Amino acid sequence: MPLFKVLDECNCQSLTFVSDAASGLNALVALHNTRRGPAFGGIRTLSYQSQSAAVTDAVRLAQAMSYKAAVADLPAGGGKCVVIKTDNMDRPAAFRALGRAIEQFGGRYFTGLDVGTTHDDLVEIAKETKYVAKDLDFGKATARGVMAAIKAALKHRFGSESFEGRSVAVQGLGAVGAELVTMLSAEGAELFVADADQKLAAEVGEKMECEVVNAARILSQQVDVLAPCALGSIFTAQNADSLRCQVIAGSANNQLATPAAGEALRKAGITFVPDYVANAGALIKGVSEYAQGHEVGFDVVDRIHATTTMVLERAAREDKPTNEVADAIARERLA
Ligand code: NAD
Repeated sequence: MPLFKVLDECNCQSLTFVSDAASGLNALVALHNTRRGPAFGGIRTLSYQSQSAAVTDAVRLAQAMSYKAAVADLPAGGGKCVVIKTDNMDRPAAFRALGRAIEQFGGRYFTGLDVGTTHDDLVEIAKETKYVAKDLDFGKATARGVMAAIKAALKHRFGSESFEGRSVAVQGLGAVGAELVTMLSAEGAELFVADADQKLAAEVGEKMECEVVNAARILSQQVDVLAPCALGSIFTAQNADSLRCQVIAGSANNQLATPAAGEALRKAGITFVPDYVANAGALIKGVSEYAQGHEVGFDVVDRIHATTTMVLERAAREDKPTNEVADAIARERLA
């Protein structure tokens, strides 16, 4: 792969290779755009098929973080770190080495959790740098943001954001999904839940007194709102017609398999809140705490309500899919 190709394609500012032979660390830090402020983005720890796959992932994820920060109108840019997981990596030492590398950025990059990285890893990083959100409750902040997005979408679609008489299907009951179910239940929504881990689904179903649905069928559950909180690439240009919801708003990253899936959802009459609009809660809380130098309340995340409304109203005005509108807003703000 020509090394600069993906950087040029994604308009990515820089890519740093981090290596520590003693611990077996091989990592990449992509800073996509720092024009609006320091680059924020968590660490993904995965075993990759190839080094070029890791480069592509780091750069694309960093770009997505820039878009997320710009649409949320934060004084922040986007970045991402990818740790190439290997069997012989001495994990605590590797994350301390990564912490030293992050410290070298001098505050231009601020990190946190992403897929495959644990809170223990962040604790190791925090021994070497202060540029890490070690104490942030990512799941709760993100779930609260998804709640704000759902309420804005309900108001846009039905004229009221009350959950009275409204049904919601939640796919994925991990850090975000479980919090979201608790919040939805407290507001009186009728709930349908599913997880690939059937034991977890049964536990949540019993605790929250809601109906557990087979994971293979949750996406086609007949509900007012579908909240995908598991994996990405679940909506395609082909499956939009099989969905039986009116609103989609959830935390899963990259829910659309292709941009064309956004148009298919629009044609199917579904109000789709773009994932990076709905799932910006932890980013908003992290950036706010960084900017203010102290912990802030979870209510800071509620601004996602106004952002969602802005995106949905502009999409309706321009008769365009919501994902196109969110991307256009991000590009305008990053230009
Ligand atoms: P998690 O790993 O804690 O939970 C994901 C859950 O989804 C797991 O319980 C898993 O068993 C389940 N799952 C996987 N495949 C499934 C399937 N096909 N059907 C049903 N359930 C399935 O992850 P999380 O932190 O809760 O994040 C959920 C999603 O939100 C991810 O896509 C993540 O990238 C995104 N996200 C999370 C945050 C955050 O702060 N945690 C922020 C932004 C975006």
